[in-house]
Amino acid sequence: MAHKHDHEACIENAVADAERICADRGTRFTDLRRRILTMIWQGHKAVKAYDLLDQLATTGGSAKPPTVYRALDFLMEEGLVHKIESLNAYVGCPHPGDNHISQFLICDKCETVEEVASGALNAAVKAVARDSGFSIHKQTLELHGMCKRCLQDKKAA
Ligand SMILES: [Zn+2]
Ligand SMILES: [Zn+2]
Ligand SMILES: [Zn+2]
Repeated sequence: MAHKHDHEACIENAVADAERICADRGTRFTDLRRRILTMIWQGHKAVKAYDLLDQLATTGGSAKPPTVYRALDFLMEEGLVHKIESLNAYVGCPHPGDNHISQFLICDKCETVEEVASGALNAAVKAVARDSGFSIHKQTLELHGMCKRCLQDKKAA
């Protein structure tokens, strides 16, 4: 998905969604939060916090690490970005606003992260927890491998 498409539209949609969601909830989509969200949406790869700090430093108006982490916490709370735990990095959510539990397909070659939401998988996880009398507070499923496009490139080579 990250290869050939109108990515400008992805960025525009992400920023428009964020503006709408924050306005609806009465939360503040500050300039720094907007800049960080736009940086995360530079592509469909997960972005590390120190890369954001580097970029903020080179584009002027550098921000201190705690400020950037607070902005990231805000974006996560509002569901605008997700943290990829296995990479300790962040990706933009393509459908923020609706409550969802998602899974991530992470390509180890091109580093594209695709967010998928499988109801069947969520139901299975719930059943497992229920059978063990376990209460889930956090659910993270990150699958590492190779994406369709990279597999096709490999075959073609
Ligand atoms: Zn895109
Ligand atoms: Zn999402
Ligand atoms: Zn790939």
